[in-house]
Amino acid sequence: MKSEHLPIIEVKDLYVNFYTYAGVVKAIDGVSFTIYRGETYCLVGETGCGKSVTAKSLTKLIRPPGRIEKGQVLYYREPGKEPIDLLGLSEEELRRIRGAEISYIFQDPSASLDPLYNIGYQISETMYDHGLISSIKEGFLKAVDILKSVLMPDPETRVKNYPHELSGGMKQRAVIGISLSNNPRLVIADEPTTALDATVQDQIMDLLKKLKKEKNLTVLLITHNMGLVADMCDRVAVMYAGRIVEEADIYELFKNPLHPYTKALLKAVPNPVKKIDKLESIPGTVPNLIYPPPGCRFHPRCQYAMEKCKSERPPEIWVSSTHRVSCWLYS
Ligand code: SF4
Repeated sequence: MKSEHLPIIEVKDLYVNFYTYAGVVKAIDGVSFTIYRGETYCLVGETGCGKSVTAKSLTKLIRPPGRIEKGQVLYYREPGKEPIDLLGLSEEELRRIRGAEISYIFQDPSASLDPLYNIGYQISETMYDHGLISSIKEGFLKAVDILKSVLMPDPETRVKNYPHELSGGMKQRAVIGISLSNNPRLVIADEPTTALDATVQDQIMDLLKKLKKEKNLTVLLITHNMGLVADMCDRVAVMYAGRIVEEADIYELFKNPLHPYTKALLKAVPNPVKKIDKLESIPGTVPNLIYPPPGCRFHPRCQYAMEKCKSERPPEIWVSSTHRVSCWLYS
């Protein structure tokens, strides 16, 4: 944990459903966690486990047929002051916070950029909308500096370019520039490198690490990549089927994983120092969340499943002050 353990976001008992023609998808089922100032907190898990839905819920970016059913997202704007429940704010109030105090970097930079406007305009517009500059023209000068800070090659030219004139890596640098242009307190990076090729992925993650250090950012990183988790994060929460099944600081999680799902995830990651013939896979498939398994949602795939795992939700057990697990094996 960082900054004397001062929280910036506290998510309490969050539930999100999606009302589809096929039935109600219980996407987030009682998720709680705290992000502290200055840290990189990571949500990790397979595709469809609810990481992105959780991230979007923080500023009520869930659109119909999705609905936030219950919970609180307490935002500590200033350390030591009373928090604001973001879920209780109006759309207008949230618009002032999104992009200014809490900003997002999404996985596909092409979808984040407007093809009709050049990069300089898009950076300027973000700053103008939040009152940081008095005109778009003023923003163009600042945009060059912002592009320099995200190590964009030839920023004076790129500021006049349209998204289609940039490579995938350049587009993501531009998106990061837009995201940081208002000096946000919290950056939510949702699979920021998934749409990029491997070498560019490394460059973008190095850039994020550099910017985090320089600007003392707090980052929520969403990923399915355990390598990125090891490289970037201070603390990590492992999600499975809409629930957090384990949370620990990064060293503890890799050294002493407790939940059978976390153990299986780690065994499925290549180890650069240990020669193995075959990576292990997790048997079975992720459950259909219209009809989630009762009890522990991991029980149909768990080799340690007991009778009560099939009917009773496992409690949350704190095994140390920084390590919690939801599994009947530790109760
Ligand atoms: Fe496996 Fe039971 Fe633990 Fe779930 S609660 S992970 S089924 S042992």
